[in-house]
Amino acid sequence: MIYQSTRSDYTTDSLHAVLNGLAPDGGLFVRQNITGNAFNWQECLNRSSTDMAKMLLKNFFPDFQDIDSIVDKSYRNKFETEDLTPLVPVKNGYILELFRGPTSAFKDVALSVLPHLIVQAKKQTDTKGDIVILTATSGDTGKAALEGFHDVEGTQIVVFYPNDGVSEIQKKQMTSQIGKNVSVCAVNGNFDDCQTGVKKAFANLREKLFANGKILSSANSINIGRLVPQITYYFIAYKKLVRLGKIKIGEPVNFSVPTGNFGDILAGYYAKLSGLPVGKLICASNSNNVLTDFLKSGVYDKNRNLIKSMSPSMDILVSSNLERLLFHASGNNTEAVKNWMQNLNSNGYFKVDSSTLSAIQQTFEAGFCSEEDTLNAIRNCWKENGYLCDTHTAVAYHVAMQSEALGKSNNPCVILSTASPYKFPNAVLTALEEPVSDDEFDMMQHIRKITGVEIPANLSSLKDRKPVHNDVIDVSQIEHYVTEAVNGNSMS
Ligand SMILES: *Cc1c(COP(=O)(O)O)cnc(C)c1O
Repeated sequence: MIYQSTRSDYTTDSLHAVLNGLAPDGGLFVRQNITGNAFNWQECLNRSSTDMAKMLLKNFFPDFQDIDSIVDKSYRNKFETEDLTPLVPVKNGYILELFRGPTSAFKDVALSVLPHLIVQAKKQTDTKGDIVILTATSGDTGKAALEGFHDVEGTQIVVFYPNDGVSEIQKKQMTSQIGKNVSVCAVNGNFDDCQTGVKKAFANLREKLFANGKILSSANSINIGRLVPQITYYFIAYKKLVRLGKIKIGEPVNFSVPTGNFGDILAGYYAKLSGLPVGKLICASNSNNVLTDFLKSGVYDKNRNLIKSMSPSMDILVSSNLERLLFHASGNNTEAVKNWMQNLNSNGYFKVDSSTLSAIQQTFEAGFCSEEDTLNAIRNCWKENGYLCDTHTAVAYHVAMQSEALGKSNNPCVILSTASPYKFPNAVLTALEEPVSDDEFDMMQHIRKITGVEIPANLSSLKDRKPVHNDVIDVSQIEHYVTEAVNGNSMS
C-alpha cells in the first residue's frame, strides 16, 4: 500500500490507484516516501529512453506485472524519433521536444501508456467489464486520448469537444479518428458547457453503467498513471546534457515548463525526488497567471476571469495537480490539504502557511507571458536560433529568458516544448509578420515554404482524411449520447 490520498490517510496499491483515478475522499493519489525509496537514478541515466521509462514505471508501480511489454507496446513505432524526446540547443539553453508522438502534442508521452496500464490493472485486479473513458476536450487531450485508446481491448472511449471551440486542425484530427471502440461528438457550446455536461453525465451514469458491466473513467491528468510516464523525459534531457559534455553527473539542470494543470512540471518534481539533480523548476503561465501569483505569494485566488489566449492548453484557473505538490511540500499534511481544497471549492481561494511556501520556493520559480510577448518570443526564437516553436513553448521560452535562476547560475536551462508549431499556424504566421488566411492547411504550407521546417506526417496527411464522426448535439443530449455510444461500440 504505497499510494495514499492527498486528503486523508486512505491508502491503496498502485494497481487500484491507476484503476480508480481519484481517491474516495476526492483527493488525488500520491506515492508515499518517494525520496526514501532508493531509486538508482545514476543507473537510470545509462539506459535507453524506453528502458528509462521501464525503470521508472517499475519503481512507481511495483504491483504491475509486464511493465516491459507495456512500455514496448506504448512507444514502439509510435514516435517520430528513436529517443522519444529530442533535445535541441538554442542560444541560452535547450529545447526538449515532447511533441514527436502520434498527435504532435506532449500529451502523447503519457496517453500512449495510460490505456495499457489501465488494461493491466484491470486484469490483475480481476475487474470485470469494459472501461469507458469519458472526456471533454478543448483540443489536445481528446485526440491524444483517442490515439492512445483506439482498439485497445476492454476499453471504449467517448470524446466531446465544443463545436466552435477547437481549431480546424484539432477538429479534423478528432473527426477522422479510426477505431472500433471510439465515439467523437461535437457539442453546441463552449468548452465549459461541454465539460459541465460531461461531469454531469459522469455522475448520473456511473452506477447505471456499472450495473451493465461498464466502468466509467477519465483520461485527464489527475490519474497517477498519466503523470509517472512524464518523469522519463527529465532523465532523457539530463542524460543528453551529460553526453554532450555540458554537465557532469550531479550538477543541477533547470527546467522551464509551460504549465496548465501542473502535471508536466510535477513530473519534474518527481524526477527530483527520485534523485535526479534538478535545480529550479520554472513554472511558466500565459495571461492566466494564477500559478505565478501563488508561487510568489502563497495565495491561490481563482476569482478572476479566464482569458482566452493563443496558448489554449494553458487557459486554466484550477490546476488540479498542484494539490499533489501541496501534499509533499506541507510534509504530508492531509488535514491542511483538505482545508485548502475546501476553501478553494467554496471561496475560490486559499493561502498556505509560510513553511509550506518556502518548501515550494526552494524548487519552484514562476513567471508569466502576455499575448504580445508570446508572439515576440516565437519571432525572436526563430530569428536568433532558426528554431520555430509553438505558442505554448514560446511562453516557457519567454519566462526562461526572464528568469532569475537562469541569470544567476551557469547551470543549463531546458525549455520543455509541448506542441508542434504546425498546430497553431495562425499565431505562428502572425509572429513571423506573414499574412494569415482562414484555411489552416494553406497556412501550414506557407509556414513550411518560408521556414523549411518539416510538417509532421500526422498533420500533413490530415487535409485529405475523411471525417467519419459528424455528430453534433446539444449539451442536454450528452448523457443520452454516452448511453447509446457505450451500448453500440463494445469490443468485448
Ligand atoms: C496540456 C498542455 C500543456 C499543459 O500541461 P499541464 O501538464 O496541464 O501543465 C501545455 N502545452 C500543451 C500544448 C498542452 O497540450
